[in-house]
Amino acid sequence: MKPVLTESTAGVYCPAGDFYIDPRRRVPRAVVTHAHMDHFRSGCGEYYCSSSSLDLMKLRLRGSPQVTGVEFGEQIELGDVKVSFHPAGHILGSAQIRVEAAGEVFVVSGDYKRGADPSCEPFEVVPCDTFITEATFARSGAAWRPGEEVIAEVGKWWEDNRREGKVSVLYCYVLGKLQRVLAGLGALDGEREVFIHRDAEPYNDCYRRAGIQLAPTRIVPRKLDGWSLGGALVLAPPKYLQPSWYRRFGKTETAFASGWMALEDSRKRGYDKGFALSDHADWSELLQTIEETGASNVITCHGESSELEEHLAGRGLVVSSLPRA
Ligand SMILES: [Zn+2]
Ligand SMILES: [Zn+2]
Repeated sequence: MKPVLTESTAGVYCPAGDFYIDPRRRVPRAVVTHAHMDHFRSGCGEYYCSSSSLDLMKLRLRGSPQVTGVEFGEQIELGDVKVSFHPAGHILGSAQIRVEAAGEVFVVSGDYKRGADPSCEPFEVVPCDTFITEATFARSGAAWRPGEEVIAEVGKWWEDNRREGKVSVLYCYVLGKLQRVLAGLGALDGEREVFIHRDAEPYNDCYRRAGIQLAPTRIVPRKLDGWSLGGALVLAPPKYLQPSWYRRFGKTETAFASGWMALEDSRKRGYDKGFALSDHADWSELLQTIEETGASNVITCHGESSELEEHLAGRGLVVSSLPRA
């Protein structure tokens, strides 16, 4: 019998359905877990994604791509296999992909987390025989605190800086993290306006159209012309961590919001402060999820996974890799 999923240079390939999951190259048919750029590329013949990713995918793909949105839980047939999308709790619309062929079930997790996040659909456990899990933070030292707590600390940091007349510049990935912070701040104090880099605006629009409540925002003007941002909070993508960009705000404090801030020194990355806010599963979430899927076979991808693989093998699970195409 031919394998249902294989590993090829272009990514995970399903021969019976003739599609690639999160392809790294241009392929005729792509099934995409979510709209982060390391999970798809432009120029594919056609795309399938969750309906709530559709807006984000169209924003990120150039030209007039052919993209089909599929509701969470709805089953479609591609060739001889059944495919469905299930929430992954990572960013808006992020999905795990369930592939069923001849009674055998495979789930490709994409990126996921289990912690509460008001900016996206909560993770759903999907029972399967083979679970292909991300392993970004597959190390026993990775353990997150609840996101609400971390975002409340961001609020306090902003307040402290404001009292000292400083502008708080918080760097976060432009899609996902930035909206999670805005949703969290909106829930804390819905009225206070947050400044954002203009790059974030189209993504914020997608989230608002999807009905996600974000704190009110205003784009940082290109030229301040003597205008003061005194005491403001500014959210911007990490590529703008350049004094030439933020010095014009006057006295500033910079910070980075990322899971890496639980494991690394923020100063080494050039930030005054770090907030450990992750959109990936930590060690215990990985173990919990693998157990809850009931999978007897586990395959890891995205990350350094030897510690996890050893741990799972010790518990009697089969840890393997996909056959090469
Ligand atoms: Zn991602
Ligand atoms: Zn990723």
